[in-house]
Amino acid sequence: MKDELDKALCEKYPKIFKMRNASMQETCMCWGFDHGDGWFNILSAACANIQNHIDWKRKQEPYASMTDEEFDEIHQPVAAQVKEKFGGLRFYVDNADDYVSGVIAMAESMSYRTCENCGAPGKQSGKGWIKTVCDACVLNK
Ligand SMILES: [Zn+2]
Repeated sequence: MKDELDKALCEKYPKIFKMRNASMQETCMCWGFDHGDGWFNILSAACANIQNHIDWKRKQEPYASMTDEEFDEIHQPVAAQVKEKFGGLRFYVDNADDYVSGVIAMAESMSYRTCENCGAPGKQSGKGWIKTVCDACVLNK
């Protein structure tokens, strides 16, 4: 994904992407968002849902009595890797609860219907090397 979109996600969701610039010994996030620009909106919407949920959870008992450090250590979802594989988005996150896992499953399933290149409705194309693209992007390849 291009730098501008990468940066936009990291600035909007600093807690989820806190490992973005860590070393390759620590995280696969050092490789960035290893997929096309067309999935930006899916990822952005997923992160909005995830962070809203966690910010709400933070205020509930028994979490409300924890310190921020304790809470984040155990409950703040942190992206471990974001990439394309077999035509679909893979969004690996540490500290995912059931809600977060559900949001990610939805995001991954939407990627199979969305052109990885431009974000238009798309479908799987190609033999051997499968990509999810729209008709226009197939023709312009
Ligand atoms: Zn397209």
